[in-house]
Amino acid sequence: MLFSRYTHKFFVGSDVALYNSLRMKPVFLTRDKFKQVETFLGEVSDRQPVVVPFEVEQEVQELLKYKILIDSPEKDEKMLSFVKSKLSEPEISVCYFILSEQCNLACKYCFLGNNDKERRKNFAKELMSKEIAEKGVYFFLKQLESVEYNANRKPVVIFYGGEPLMNFETLVYVVEKFNSLKSEHKVLENIEFSMVSNGLLLSEKRLLQLRELNVSIAISIDGCDEASNAMRVDLNGNIVFPKIVKTLDIAKELNVPVSLSITLTEETIKRQSDVIDLIKKYNVKGLGFNIMMGDHRYPLPADYNDKAAQFIIDVFKQLREIGVYEDRIMRKLKSFAKAQVYFSDCAATSAGQIVIAADGAVGICHGCLSDRNYFNSCVDDLDFNPRENPVWQEWNHLSPIEKDECQDCEALGICGGGCPINAMGEHEGNTIHSLDERFCVHAKKTLEFFIGDLHRVVTGEDCSCRKIL
Ligand code: SF4
Ligand code: SF4
Repeated sequence: MLFSRYTHKFFVGSDVALYNSLRMKPVFLTRDKFKQVETFLGEVSDRQPVVVPFEVEQEVQELLKYKILIDSPEKDEKMLSFVKSKLSEPEISVCYFILSEQCNLACKYCFLGNNDKERRKNFAKELMSKEIAEKGVYFFLKQLESVEYNANRKPVVIFYGGEPLMNFETLVYVVEKFNSLKSEHKVLENIEFSMVSNGLLLSEKRLLQLRELNVSIAISIDGCDEASNAMRVDLNGNIVFPKIVKTLDIAKELNVPVSLSITLTEETIKRQSDVIDLIKKYNVKGLGFNIMMGDHRYPLPADYNDKAAQFIIDVFKQLREIGVYEDRIMRKLKSFAKAQVYFSDCAATSAGQIVIAADGAVGICHGCLSDRNYFNSCVDDLDFNPRENPVWQEWNHLSPIEKDECQDCEALGICGGGCPINAMGEHEGNTIHSLDERFCVHAKKTLEFFIGDLHRVVTGEDCSCRKIL
């Protein structure tokens, strides 16, 4: 009998938490019991039958049940192959329409490259035409219908850019087109629409129209004041924060729900309570925090990743009290609570999405728009099959479950992996297969928070949790 390779140990208050990163059910033992279990394991020999002492019998049973202890190393291999067998094949359910590759802003951290004159030149000048959009609608529909019908499936259409509102007409056209096809194509019955926008071109009329069309609106904002939003600038470098606030005011007045996409600048991180006030002021029910992407050309301070990860946890704790949904943590929490391995934190790394560029090129990730990397199809390619396409095949295997470097990581089960585009930019020589280190900090800290939080619920003791190295 031995500890599984996937077992990790944490101090949490006066207890020790034992946790198998693939089975994902923590077991709490007092420090004394833990020592007794360790002593017992130290005495187990291969040559003699295992006799579990009476004092730890119950604990050992519990640890065996959750694969924290195993009776032979082969059990780990079996567990890993079982989990890997659940990895799904490429299957498209998310479709990005890049209505305009151009943007009316040039945010300093834009990972698409809108802040860089040279990269900006690579973006299509023309907006997505209705002809391309219509072909895109049928392209996506064909993908949805190419797999067995499942009533629980929710196809998602995301309007993105550049700035999608630079091409509002086509946005409306696409939604209406999908809606008109609903009666003949039951795969579209649960279709959802959302738009990620900087909000500057959102007039009263457009807000009302989007509500009418059932398009969820996510507005990018980085905090509650000009300092936090100093990186959100227009093409001349002017801060646009007051304009975003004006849009939020109009949406509030019209009662049009909006969610927020908040990039955590260093300034935003310093203003935790102001961020919460902003969320409350605009009655926001859902939001997502974005950790800034590191780049070897523009490195972030060494402690940034840690601070950003801690900020998300601290704010999450407060938001759950008031029923506000923070997407980034909730995705991991669902996996932890259900003890189900989370394979991929992005639809691109499960090869579940297509991105339709303004000129009709089809790729897997909008982060590659400027160099058209990983765009190897187009809306005219009626034979497109993600299960045979080398790009979708390659991205389908980016899950941490398949990475050697991730096997000994405590966050393996809840992680889902970060953003391959960020991983590629972090260090010279990196590829999409490298680790997104920024994300690792977030995933590991979040796991410690979950285990500590579960311990709080079980024991009533609110104490921090940290991995025993
Ligand atoms: S790989 Fe990164 S940029 Fe691309 S869709 Fe995923 S999270 Fe976004
Ligand atoms: S990507 Fe990072 S956090 Fe996720 S499993 Fe791998 S090493 Fe752990």
